[in-house]
Amino acid sequence: MRIAVVGAGIAGRMLAWRLSKLGAELGFEISIFDKAARHSQAACSYAAAGILSPLAELEMAEPKVFELGCRSLEIYPQWLSQLSSQVFFKQQGSIVAAHGQDKVELEHFYRLIHRKLDNVADYAQKVDLAIKDQELASLGEGLFLPTEGQLDPIELLQALDRELDTIVWYDNTRVVSIEKGLLKTEHDTHAFDWVFDCRGLGAKESLPLRAVRGELLWLEAPDVNIKNLTRLMHPRYRIYIVPRPNNIYLVGATEIESEDYSPVSVRSSLELLSAAYSVHKGFGEARIIKSVVNCRPALADNLPLMELEDGIGKINGLYRHGILLAPALIEKAIEQLLESIDSKEEVYAVNA
Ligand SMILES: Cc1cc2nc3c(=O)[nH]c(=O)nc-3n(C[C@H](O)[C@H](O)[C@H](O)COP(=O)(O)OP(=O)(O)OC[C@H]3O[C@@H](n4cnc5c(N)ncnc54)[C@H](O)[C@@H]3O)c2cc1C
Repeated sequence: MRIAVVGAGIAGRMLAWRLSKLGAELGFEISIFDKAARHSQAACSYAAAGILSPLAELEMAEPKVFELGCRSLEIYPQWLSQLSSQVFFKQQGSIVAAHGQDKVELEHFYRLIHRKLDNVADYAQKVDLAIKDQELASLGEGLFLPTEGQLDPIELLQALDRELDTIVWYDNTRVVSIEKGLLKTEHDTHAFDWVFDCRGLGAKESLPLRAVRGELLWLEAPDVNIKNLTRLMHPRYRIYIVPRPNNIYLVGATEIESEDYSPVSVRSSLELLSAAYSVHKGFGEARIIKSVVNCRPALADNLPLMELEDGIGKINGLYRHGILLAPALIEKAIEQLLESIDSKEEVYAVNA
């Protein structure tokens, strides 16, 4: 069976890897197409902070996102252990905090998750931050979400790339149309049994997608020793601080309804940096080592789409949680693909 995956962001790349693992057993031949160069880091997936926080997402997202996110957190450790390269992954929980004047936001968040979850105590504990993470002591009481995690998306995308060495990779190849059994690039037409469309915002001609701009700053802060992934509640925006090895902190991310890939704005930099500085004065001497901008692919309901029909699969609308949701969505997509192959074989067997 010939299968094409179009788009090598997190969705396409992870799908191609899982399909290629099944390939030997089931006779799949996998090809991947991407409009960018193979090692380019232009895809939205390279911009992500790598936060895996189904519970924090529950504040703004539907319970479906929470359920898929929890499933992904179960899958990640297994799948990462099957990669031949190491990927930075931690599941040691996260903190949600607020300054004194914004404590009402924290209370609101707690009440909201309490309403959406039966067993909230398994997922959120009130803690004294002076005890939980000394460097956050000035924020007083906060919430600790013990199941949440984070990973390094760049390491993950690169590790997946290495796993895909044996499949046919058409890079610098823009796909212009996908029809049942056929995929057209600017220069050729290819026939496949199944085509999976994972083009993110590149699939706008076939899905009503919109772009949500996100900006993120990478700081090197030797004077800061925050150990926990921290989300700061604020009436106007939510900001997270993601600690990485070697005193690196990722501070993000803005959410602006616009397909705008221009550099980080002064207003966003001021907001992100002043929020970081308000949490820890040590950020005052930090160095901005990288600024990142990209646009998230979102559908009108902000929910992910995963559908398989008539030889075409679609995984899209991953919005602000593509790294979190990818494993659970891909697991479901492959289940559906295998079911459809089984049911076709049954029809052949009955008609034989
Ligand atoms: C600043 C920022 C921070 C984020 N932080 C997080 C986070 O902490 N946790 C989290 O879970 N998510 C996060 N996200 C969201 C996450 O990055 C996205 O949900 C995810 O990257 C979407 O992945 P994708 O594979 O659908 O699309 P993409 O990564 O955009 O990949 C699409 C691919 O398709 C290719 N393509 C497009 N058009 C064509 C075409 N016509 N032909 C061939 N190829 C084509 C592109 O070149 C690209 O490689 C963040 C996003 C941003 C911007």
